[in-house]
Amino acid sequence: MDRHPDTLSQLARPHRKAVLVALLWITLSGGILFAWLNIQNNAIPVAIVELVMAGFSAYMLYAVRKTAHLERWILAYIIPFFTAMMVAVATPRTSATVYGWVLLIPLVSHLLLGRRWGLILSLFYIGCAAVIFFVQNHQRPELMDVRSLANMVVLTTCILAFSHVYEISRERTETQLLHMAQTDFLTGLANRSRMKVFFDREKARSLREAQPLALLVIDLDHFKNINDRFGHEAGDAALVFFSKLLEKRLRATDLAGRLGGEEFGIILVNTGTAGAIDVAEGLRQALANSDCRYQETSIPLTMSIGVAEFGPDGDSLQGLLTAADQRLYQAKANGRNQVVPAPSSAAPATDQASPFPG
Ligand code: GH3
Ligand code: MG
Ligand code: MG
Repeated sequence: MDRHPDTLSQLARPHRKAVLVALLWITLSGGILFAWLNIQNNAIPVAIVELVMAGFSAYMLYAVRKTAHLERWILAYIIPFFTAMMVAVATPRTSATVYGWVLLIPLVSHLLLGRRWGLILSLFYIGCAAVIFFVQNHQRPELMDVRSLANMVVLTTCILAFSHVYEISRERTETQLLHMAQTDFLTGLANRSRMKVFFDREKARSLREAQPLALLVIDLDHFKNINDRFGHEAGDAALVFFSKLLEKRLRATDLAGRLGGEEFGIILVNTGTAGAIDVAEGLRQALANSDCRYQETSIPLTMSIGVAEFGPDGDSLQGLLTAADQRLYQAKANGRNQVVPAPSSAAPATDQASPFPG
């Protein structure tokens, strides 16, 4: 079953956008300030590069507000920004302290690009800066001294390592939070929010590839009686048992979710009503024949299922839930422990009666 959280980059977007906007403001104001200082110092080419960066930042501040291509804008910013830094360190007349700016590279690239591309870009530009530094200063013994070199190498490595470790831990926490926000705490199945995201993605694919898509809504029969007879903890264990049964029997591409209480939904991809009835009937029989045990006691479980199909029953998750829910109530009214599809589909399947009276 599909249990993967939605893509990380979706969640990272607002965070990266906020970092980018902050950097753009810094580049805009810093570019103007340093251009003015460099003009005073007669370093005109550097001043021109800084003014161009400031102008470009101003334009980007406008452009990134509503962009759907944040990653492209990040690259459009970061590559010229770092390249300008290389031009600045390579310019003979600039102060040696300009190398301090190189320490920004690992921080900025990890914050904006994540751990993989952050590391790749950091290594590339720090490598470039190291070569430029060596070519410029190899004849200055006070800078080529082992202790001076060790200072620079250790400091740069520390900042690179901290940025990288921080980003790894941030991404891990983000993945865990995303997983928690989309998972039912008791059963570990998807919650409604995850089902909605999954449905929207599968709906788009279904339309693109002209494949059917079906929804089952399941409600366990007489669950209140199970709680009353065996206790609430046994009820919880029965819900977990049922979730495991779903996970075991469904395909990796389908999604089972807990809609609330003892009500579940299953999205079946590439499946029309006939296939969905087969799956539902298989699940119904599997549960009715299963042996759910709690502390040596056997808990009898059955379920009623309503079936709906994307297209004939609506084109939104809510529409399909409503249609399947109506059929589920029909299944309850018919005596429970059965599958009810759309009226025009195959006759509802049923065999034994529910273990509890209605
Ligand atoms: P029906 O066959 O008509 O569905 O009868 P039912 O008793 O299952 O239906 P009803 O909706 O009246 O009751 C659902 C019960 O499920 C009520 C509640 O005590 C129980 N329930 C809901 N969520 C949980 C849960 O997380 N754990 C436990 N143990 N019970 C729950
Ligand atoms: Mg019920
Ligand atoms: Mg119910």
